[in-house]
Amino acid sequence: DAIITISLDGIITSWNKGAERFFGYSEEEIIGKPLSILDPPELAGETEELAEMIKQGDQINHYETLRLRKNGTTIYISTTISLILDIYGEPIAPITILIIARDITKTKKAEEELRESEERYRIVTEQTGQMVYDYYSSTGKCKWAGAMEEVTGCSLKEFKESDKDFWIKNVVHANMNRMYENFQDIEKIQGRFKEELRLRRKDGTYIYAENTGVYFLDQDMQPYRAIGVLRDINDRKKAEKMLKSKLEEVSRSNEELEQFTYISSHDMKEPLRMITSYLQLLQRKYQGKLDDKADKYIHFAVGGASRMQSLINDLLEFSRVTTIVSEPELINCEFLLNQVLSNLSLILKENDATISHDHLPEVMADSTQIGQVFQNLIINGIKFHGEETPKIHISAEKKENYWVFSVQDNGLGIDPQYSERIFEIFKRLNKREDYPGTGIGLPICKKIIERHGGRIWVESELGKGSTFYFTLSINPTAVQKTNF
Ligand code: ADP
Repeated sequence: DAIITISLDGIITSWNKGAERFFGYSEEEIIGKPLSILDPPELAGETEELAEMIKQGDQINHYETLRLRKNGTTIYISTTISLILDIYGEPIAPITILIIARDITKTKKAEEELRESEERYRIVTEQTGQMVYDYYSSTGKCKWAGAMEEVTGCSLKEFKESDKDFWIKNVVHANMNRMYENFQDIEKIQGRFKEELRLRRKDGTYIYAENTGVYFLDQDMQPYRAIGVLRDINDRKKAEKMLKSKLEEVSRSNEELEQFTYISSHDMKEPLRMITSYLQLLQRKYQGKLDDKADKYIHFAVGGASRMQSLINDLLEFSRVTTIVSEPELINCEFLLNQVLSNLSLILKENDATISHDHLPEVMADSTQIGQVFQNLIINGIKFHGEETPKIHISAEKKENYWVFSVQDNGLGIDPQYSERIFEIFKRLNKREDYPGTGIGLPICKKIIERHGGRIWVESELGKGSTFYFTLSINPTAVQKTNF
């Protein structure tokens, strides 16, 4: 400590080593000088005022102030000032004032840093829109901070005064109780908790909140303290709810649409069959017996009816992708491809087509449907051939958790601007007279691959052949869970 004495008019009469160390002046330099030289400019006159108070009989204990050092820097001191008295409590002549000072710069700095850091913490927690609590279950004490108003509708002050108990009981306490109850489970998640709650706000409305945090264990391995964050997730919950109901709506209307397609195409088949057979009867019986015009009309009607028949059949086949399904099974794709090729042997021969393939994997899927995908893609590769005889190559490449199959041909190719549209129902790029078909093959492939959780696409350029790609999951359980 610095121990200094001054005369009643403020002149320094003694100065110890502590004072020398604190203020930088040696004893020789300072004795006889006024103590007020230690007053920093912003506190000029303070020494005089304090000395006046002492003269009036006051005692000054642990008074905290700032003083100037010899080198111009400042130092925080805590000072006790009194008169030197004799054993009877009377001032000893000549009357002398004793000053004992302690350097508290470090403590002051630490306090300031703490204040700044708390301020920073307060601002940050408020900005995050979250409410933070620190709860001790042993004492029941809970400290709150952050965006109280956003979450609860109460200001921090109101919150502390009003519904605090409600929050502690319903949020923090309930959480601690759950920790006790599910202690075995909680141990596994390493001191963290996360849950969703419904909370009542000041205005009586309820919101969804997410409560996350950490807890601390005592010697008996029981939680005694929890630090957590409450976040308003009402908007997210609302959006989730809306999304769920929209998804349900979509899947319901999809189902209805599929049923409608199936039923209507199924029911239309019968009257259409009747129209077609009677038209054919007319054609057979009256061909050449009526005039030329009648022959032509009957011919068009027969053609239209049979085209409609194939469209209806295609629609039925399309709706069967989801209405008639088998359980996924482990299929050997090489074996499956060979079966498909043997079914197509006549077409392959007629078109002088060459088919080659790399090693193909085993996958978990609906065997009939994947066979249908191979078949449709191979038939298209043959049907849309160019000048050269058709050459088709099938391969499979392993990616992270799925296989990418490819069916490459050397045919006409597809203008990239149509690479999405060709997967739509009845969309065709070529004339019916030149290339038979209705435009249902690729939509069926797409529906099959998508219900297996995969993707199908084409990469091509006009005149340079096409490569169709599709993906299938490597993980059989994933296929089973998500897609069937
Ligand atoms: P379809 O074969 O009955 O016409 P798809 O749905 O299988 O119906 O094919 C739709 C259209 O996509 C075809 O009409 C054709 O224009 C184009 N296409 C499909 N596959 C190929 C291919 N390998 N090469 C060139 N064009 C193709």
